[in-house]
Amino acid sequence: MPLEHTHDVDRAASHDARRQVRIEQQGEVAFVVIDHPPVNAGSAAVRRGILQAVETIDADPGIRAAVLIGAGNTFIAGSDLQEFERPLQDPQWPEVIAAIESSPKPFIAALHGAALGGGYELALGCDARIAAPGTVIGLPEVTLGLIPGAGGTQRLPRLIGIPDALRLICNGERVGSAQARALGLIDSEVSGDLRAAAQQQAQLLGGRKCRVRDLAIVDAAPGQVDTVLAKLLPPGKTRPAVHAAAQAVQMAASLPIDAALARERAVFQELRVSEEAAALRYQFFAERKSARHPQLQGVQPRDLRMVGVIGAGTMGSGIAIAGLDGGLDVLMVERDDAALARGVASIEKHYRRRVESGKLSADVAGQRLANLRSSTDWAALEPVDLVIEAVFEDIEVKREVFAKLDAVVRSGAVLASNTSYLDLDLIAESTSRPEDVIGLHFFSPAQVMRLLEVVRTDRSSPEVLATGLKLARRLGKCAVLACNAFGFIGNRVYAAYRRQCEFMLEEGASPEQIDAALEAFGFAMGPFAVADLSGLDIAWRMRRAQGRNPSVRYVEIADRLCETGRLGRKAGAGYYRYDEAGGRHVDPAVGELIDELRAQAGLQARQFEAEEIQRRALLAMANEAALLLAENVAARASDVDVVLVNGFGFPRWRGGAVFWACQRGPSALSTELDWLAQRSGSGFVRADVRMLFEGE
Ligand code: NAD
Repeated sequence: MPLEHTHDVDRAASHDARRQVRIEQQGEVAFVVIDHPPVNAGSAAVRRGILQAVETIDADPGIRAAVLIGAGNTFIAGSDLQEFERPLQDPQWPEVIAAIESSPKPFIAALHGAALGGGYELALGCDARIAAPGTVIGLPEVTLGLIPGAGGTQRLPRLIGIPDALRLICNGERVGSAQARALGLIDSEVSGDLRAAAQQQAQLLGGRKCRVRDLAIVDAAPGQVDTVLAKLLPPGKTRPAVHAAAQAVQMAASLPIDAALARERAVFQELRVSEEAAALRYQFFAERKSARHPQLQGVQPRDLRMVGVIGAGTMGSGIAIAGLDGGLDVLMVERDDAALARGVASIEKHYRRRVESGKLSADVAGQRLANLRSSTDWAALEPVDLVIEAVFEDIEVKREVFAKLDAVVRSGAVLASNTSYLDLDLIAESTSRPEDVIGLHFFSPAQVMRLLEVVRTDRSSPEVLATGLKLARRLGKCAVLACNAFGFIGNRVYAAYRRQCEFMLEEGASPEQIDAALEAFGFAMGPFAVADLSGLDIAWRMRRAQGRNPSVRYVEIADRLCETGRLGRKAGAGYYRYDEAGGRHVDPAVGELIDELRAQAGLQARQFEAEEIQRRALLAMANEAALLLAENVAARASDVDVVLVNGFGFPRWRGGAVFWACQRGPSALSTELDWLAQRSGSGFVRADVRMLFEGE
């Protein structure tokens, strides 16, 4: 680069730095204000700005102490992840933190909003930490396939001891300010004016430095570290970043701090460029993108205070809990008293267990339950703002329920169905207000699973969709917008995956081999273990209702299992046999049945390797994703990955099936899909893969 140009770049960088970080002096205290909206991410300009501020403060004899503080509603909420795709620009956090530690003047971190990742590492480089109530603090780097790389693994154990540091860092935990105070992550929680409190803290320090790096590590009780590690690192299930984080924290006890900091940084840089970290970053951005809806910009969602839930079965009860946890009033309606009582009892049991296990205080549980009402009288639904139907999966039953809702629920309320597969347009037509109808497809257990498919019909109004998305946010769910089509996004992709796995069964792979291959890929459970767990009969009933196209390849194994009463785990047998204690066993009878059906289909058994099983299963998902895009059921390829990761146990650290497929490049992927089509036989619809590579 010519010298002149270099100067220009430097000048521009300095200008950005001054814009994002400024000094405001109050008496002898310099407030270093980080002002980089919306979340004060620790960009290169922010880092440079803080470094320049430290130099200015060092050189100014009129300044006795400094305070780092965020403008707007947060401290530094994390790093600029976009930057992680390229070599990091200087100055990097370790250099900035070293400058603060070397400064002869004390620095105070005054936290509010969020102090996460590099933001909290910066605070650990200061001489004191105070926080406003409600501040969220943590080092969640492992959730992005990294370890804290700016001293977090060395300074945190010096501040709070190795066992707690291990727990927080290896779990990527975020804690509220009250817990942060109890653990020692901050010196005090201050209500009222944060600046005034920081000024007081500066006075308290009286010019003294109090660096975390100089603190001695407090010895843990004998065996305590091993006990913590055994819990944090279950064999075979721990991701590399978590192992690396655990090792790094333990270095705090065995290496001098500067050597340990250098090692920590090297590991961080190695992990930053790993495939796993790239996949996790991709998923992070995919979720952010899925929450953006340019077509709904400026649309005002309706008010949401009281939610009705129809049906108190598995899903209805879970949805009611999700609503109560989201601070809403919930009214549950059933067809008879007995079913209603069962639903209410299951919700009460849920909260009892949460209290017994220490996850919720009895007070909070009591408040949530006080917001639950139940009735068999539909007239009680009149005032609700939104109602979610979760009755049997039967179009006639659902249409009847919606006609009834139309008659009792006030105008302006949103009418939603939790249907898994049924035609929402047909459901909407049973009301006089189809524009108020949407799908809100929760996943089981509804209070736990993060995914919520928000489904638009041909006539859903923008305000109604915006209200569905608002509900998702209220419940802490990850919402993905889909259009009305059989199975929406998730069930449709999952069905293609399962069908491909059934093809492989028919061709010679065993259920246990397929499950093992996909579990080795990272799924929590293989497809046949999942089928047994959820029961084979629901899909069986649906297949029978739909009828069959004789020209499409059809694997009869699941039907034959159902016909012999092997409905899955609940029947003690399905693709596997289950013992009294719930243990899973391979059953030779299933192998014999598969052999018989293979012979009937005129196929010869052949050997499968795990790699082929994984490849076919994932290609089938990616192919279906491209079909969904072509049909406009999904708006973006990355939305499909958000659905798979948050609703279907797809390993987050693999990014998703679309991410996996795109890594192969368009031409190789196209060749592989030809191969998959040929393996899959008649009826396989091959997609145009270009859809997957087109960005937003
Ligand atoms: P379920 O059988 O556990 O519960 C259905 C409840 O609806 C029962 O309690 C029943 O008494 C009640 N009900 C039936 N007809 C009614 C009527 N006319 N008025 C009032 N109440 C009535 O079923 P579920 O598993 O909770 O599924 C409910 C819905 O959620 C279905 O549409 C299903 O496809 C969908 N769903 C289920 C899952 C799952 O994994 N179970 C996941 C996502 C979506």
